[in-house]
Amino acid sequence: PLILGLESSCDDSAAALLRGRDVLASVVKGQGALHAAYGGVVPEIAARAHAERLDLCVEEALAEAGVALQDVDAIAVTAGPGLIGGVLSGVMLAKGLAAGLGKPLVGVNHLAGHALTPRLTDGLAFPYLMLLVSGGHCQFLTVRGPQDFSRLGGTIDDAPGEAFDKTARLLGLPQPGGPSVEAEALKGDETRFRFPRPLLDRPGCDLSFSGLKTALLRQRDQIVAPQGGLTRQDRADLCAGFQAAVRDVLAEKARRAISLYMDEQPASPALAVAGGVAANRALRGALETLCAETGLRFTAPPLALCTDNAAMIAYAGGELFAAGVTHGEPIVARPRWPLDRQAAPMIGSGK
Ligand code: ATP
Ligand code: FE
Repeated sequence: PLILGLESSCDDSAAALLRGRDVLASVVKGQGALHAAYGGVVPEIAARAHAERLDLCVEEALAEAGVALQDVDAIAVTAGPGLIGGVLSGVMLAKGLAAGLGKPLVGVNHLAGHALTPRLTDGLAFPYLMLLVSGGHCQFLTVRGPQDFSRLGGTIDDAPGEAFDKTARLLGLPQPGGPSVEAEALKGDETRFRFPRPLLDRPGCDLSFSGLKTALLRQRDQIVAPQGGLTRQDRADLCAGFQAAVRDVLAEKARRAISLYMDEQPASPALAVAGGVAANRALRGALETLCAETGLRFTAPPLALCTDNAAMIAYAGGELFAAGVTHGEPIVARPRWPLDRQAAPMIGSGK
C-alpha cells in the first residue's frame, strides 16, 4: 500500500510517501529562520508555519514520487508528543485528506517513528535494543513490536542534544550545537579538562547530563577569568572533553542496557541508535565497538532519517496498518505520550 505520512510535532514540517520500505519521497521544511530571533522554537509561530507549509510538503512529495493524491491508500500522522498547536495542524490536515479520499487514517507516536526507523533502514527484526538520543529525549528501549516498547532507562534531566546545544552557546559556537561541537572536538585534547561521568556509580541505565553543562561553565570561567578569553585550543579542548564524557556515559549505560536486553535471549541481537545525536561520530564509534565486543549487530540510520522526518511516520503507520490498527475519529492530539504506554488505545475512541 502507498502510505502518506505527515509530521509537524516540533519545528520541521514534513510529508513523505512510502511503499513498504521504499521511500518514494521525503520532504522536510525546517523553520530555523523563523525562530532564530527568539532563541528557541515559539509554539504559536510553529503552529502557523505548519498550517501554511504542510500542504506544500504534500504537493512536493506527490510530485517527487510521481503519484497522485488519489493513489494514496492510507494516511499516517504524528499525533504526539510535541507542541500541541503543530500536532493539531498535522492532525487536521490528515483528517481532511482521509475524509476527502475515503481512506483510513492512523495516529503515530513521534517517538515510535524514531524507534522503528531501523526497521525501515535496515530491516531489523524484533526485539532489538534502541538508544533514542535526540534534542528532547534520551532513553534505552527494548522494541518488541510497533506498539510494544519497554523503557530500560533514560535521562533524569537534560537530553544530550540539548546539552550539545547549550555547550555551543556557552562557547560562542553556532547552532545547532551538535555538529559544531563535534567539529571543534576533532581538534581538541579530551584529557585536558576533567568532566564528570554522571551516574556511573549507580546501577541501572539512567543517565544525567545537566552536570556536564555546569562542569563546562566552571572550567570555561576558570580560564576566561585569568586570561581574558578562550583561545581556539581551549575551545577545542573543552568540546573534546565534553563530547568524550557524553560518549563514555552513553556507551557504559548501553553496556548495561545490552545485558538487560540479552536476558530475553533475542534471536538476532541488535542495538540501533536513532535521533539527532545519533549523527555524532564519536558516539557511533563507541557503540560500534561495544557491539563488536558483545556480539550484537549495530545500526545507525543515515542523518536525514535521524532528525525529524515524515518517512519514519509513514513507516510506523504502515506497521500499524499491517497489524490491523486503524483509527476512526476523533484523533486525540497529545502533548505528552510516553512510549511505554503505547498499549493503551493510541487514539481516543471518544468514549
Ligand atoms: P525530539 O525528537 O526529542 O522531539 P528534536 O526533534 O529537537 O527532539 P532531533 O531533530 O532528533 O531532536 O535532533 C536535534 C538534536 O541533535 C540537536 O540538539 C542537535 O544539536 C543534535 N545533533 C545533531 N547533530 C549532532 C552531532 N553530530 N553530534 C551531536 N549532536 C548532534
Ligand atoms: Fe524528533
